[in-house]
Amino acid sequence: MKHLKHSLLTGIVLLSAIICVNAKKPIHGVIITGQNNHNWPVSHQAIKMTLENSGLFSLDVAVSPKQGEDMSGFSVDFSKYKLVVLDYNGDEWSAGMKAAFLDYVKQGGGVVVYHAADNAFTDWPAYNEIIALGGWGGRNEASGPYFYWKNGALQTDTSPGNGGSHGFRHEFVLNCRKASHPITKGLPAQWKHASDELYDRMRGPGGIKDLLYTAYSSPEQHGSGREEPLVFTVKYGKGRVFHIMLGHCGERLDDNPAMQCTGFQTLFLRGSEWCAKGKVTQKVPKDFPTADKSSLRLNYKPSW
Ligand code: ZN
Repeated sequence: MKHLKHSLLTGIVLLSAIICVNAKKPIHGVIITGQNNHNWPVSHQAIKMTLENSGLFSLDVAVSPKQGEDMSGFSVDFSKYKLVVLDYNGDEWSAGMKAAFLDYVKQGGGVVVYHAADNAFTDWPAYNEIIALGGWGGRNEASGPYFYWKNGALQTDTSPGNGGSHGFRHEFVLNCRKASHPITKGLPAQWKHASDELYDRMRGPGGIKDLLYTAYSSPEQHGSGREEPLVFTVKYGKGRVFHIMLGHCGERLDDNPAMQCTGFQTLFLRGSEWCAKGKVTQKVPKDFPTADKSSLRLNYKPSW
């Protein structure tokens, strides 16, 4: 009897432990990287640290072959993941990898499109639908119109010209365009981003679901003179896409202001959770920037 009681107790303790672990199980995702005109050996680490240091995520890293090498063996088993972070701007994926990715998104997968990932795959129509707006890589009027914010709404401009440019790196203010979205809820309407590129004149099919942030691209900084859409969501099939054009990667993890920015990290974390789960459970961090002052985190760790 004593033995039975003991076994029962052990069972209850074990069961509680399992339930407890399940309740806090991190979101399992993958970062796709390995080719980029940016410093991907640092950027993918910065992303991994930002997400994993929150305790909410665990990330695998899929590193592609080098540029020009055989891509046919590069594949990701998307069925293992709730989140795919695209830190990739390089050679075409194989037809099988492309089909598997589209299937993952259509079936409800979460995707974060980060910075120069929107430079990739100019000639892949479905990818352009997923990113909604892209730049460089030969993009022009055939890719879709320019999009910009004016008079309280997104405007389009079909005039011919290259898609994608940016002026000097500088600090700039992000303006919230949908404060009720789970990703932006509770964050200030305006906040100052640390020094970064401000993508402008992006073009594409433009299927933006919710535009979250814009910023003014000042001609003084060699920008477009327009209020540019920089952070938004896209719906593709049942999938949730979070596109963040911010976060130009620096030389080293400790010399990387655009990715060390508390605002950037907060959006990345919130956008990633929303992609994977359709909701955001994170508090507003204490060190979030204000409209006048940017805020850097040196350790890629949130301070809730
Ligand atoms: Zn860049």
